[in-house]
Amino acid sequence: MSIKWRLTGLFIVMTGLSLLLFWVGESVRIAANTHRIDFGVIVFAVCLPAGVVYLYTRQLSRRMEKLYFATQRIARGDFEHIHLSDSTDELGQFTTELNSLSRHVEMMVQNGTQEAHKMETILAGMQEGVVAVDQVGRVVLVNSAAERIFERQGTNRELKYLLELTYDSELEHLIRKVLSGQQLTATRETHIAQRTVQSQINPILSGQGQVRGAVIVIHDVTELRRLEQMRTEFVANVSHELRTPLTSIKGFVETLLDGAAEDPSLRERFLKIIQAETLRLQRLIEDLLTLAHFEGRDNRQGQSSGKVSYVQKAYETIKPVILSFAQAKGIRVEVDLPKTIPPLLIGENLLSQLLLNLLENAVKYTSEGRVWLHAHIGQEFIHLEFGDTGCGIPEEMLPRIFERFYRVDKARSREQGGTGLGLSIVKHMLEGIGGKISVTSQIGVGTIFTCDLPRA
Ligand code: ADP
Repeated sequence: MSIKWRLTGLFIVMTGLSLLLFWVGESVRIAANTHRIDFGVIVFAVCLPAGVVYLYTRQLSRRMEKLYFATQRIARGDFEHIHLSDSTDELGQFTTELNSLSRHVEMMVQNGTQEAHKMETILAGMQEGVVAVDQVGRVVLVNSAAERIFERQGTNRELKYLLELTYDSELEHLIRKVLSGQQLTATRETHIAQRTVQSQINPILSGQGQVRGAVIVIHDVTELRRLEQMRTEFVANVSHELRTPLTSIKGFVETLLDGAAEDPSLRERFLKIIQAETLRLQRLIEDLLTLAHFEGRDNRQGQSSGKVSYVQKAYETIKPVILSFAQAKGIRVEVDLPKTIPPLLIGENLLSQLLLNLLENAVKYTSEGRVWLHAHIGQEFIHLEFGDTGCGIPEEMLPRIFERFYRVDKARSREQGGTGLGLSIVKHMLEGIGGKISVTSQIGVGTIFTCDLPRA
């Protein structure tokens, strides 16, 4: 029943009751023939309805108070169910509606929180930096990758303007252009410390197509640019390496054609030079092909395909080449490969090529003394040591000798027929099978290369 009818009913019942009481009192007084007014009856006739109305309105007021506190709770984000005594009046209906509204708001808040959490997780897990700014250029969001890229970790809360994060006025200028609608998107590449960073700016548009802000996605393109640089250098190096012998061959052929071929001694000398240069070209092309083979990912996977070989057997195949080379230079070769060396997880051809490259280098860069090959058996790896008493390598150049075409002494290497690719090939070969190579050297004392090869 509605409150309106309840109050009306209460009023009628109470008025009736008062009148009845008053009438009873008056009847008693008239019957007793007294002219004295019975105040007790009057007080009772006034207090009873007033008391009943007071009790009812007090209960009503308590329920309303409870509802008032419940709405305050909801506003604070506490969506606990509201319990009011079951009633069918307006307050009861209001409570039911308030409960369903509270449930609805709770679900919306939960969904919103979940979405925000999802977004936060995605942003935090991104490799790319993301920064969002509002229409006046104030920072509203920065993910951790952006802080990392701009080296401003932990400053998120203090940031107001993008310039405080990037210190890049040109980027700020581009963002202003995008925010004012002068430009749809913009890209900028900058250098931060040792890294190259590319920022892509896109506007955030409202439903009506108005610019509401901008989002900046920042990529760290250092590795990409490094690879591009390496590729350019590699092409330049290959061209240079090919051009040198080709120019020489061309020159001598022209000299022979111009008449030098008539002189037998000149002819023989020039033809020998042409032969040497042709061999150098052939070796360079073979080394390039081998390097390309090892750098290809498919081949890397293929190398660890369970092929095994024995180091003694691999050495036997290259022994004649090394011994004759060393003999010609008067250098001793000491090889200590115990019979107990277990098989290695590498194909025999690859192992022979590895031994040849390193032993040939050892002899090549040693003018007197000895070169050696020792083996140590480890738990998981066999350690092969290639040592020599040669010229040695300056310490600052040690990290670079595994780079393609890097030579310590260019003239000497070329003179010895080196291509500058031998160590690079060995390094890639070892990485492909899960091994590694290290080097120690001392100028004028010698060099030691140590290869760790996985046991089969
Ligand atoms: P190269 O064909 O020129 O020998 P490598 O890649 O095999 O090319 O070696 C790179 C450079 O490292 C060489 O040019 C040489 O300067 C240096 N090097 C390699 N091995 C030795 C060694 N055993 N002693 C001294 N220098 C060495």
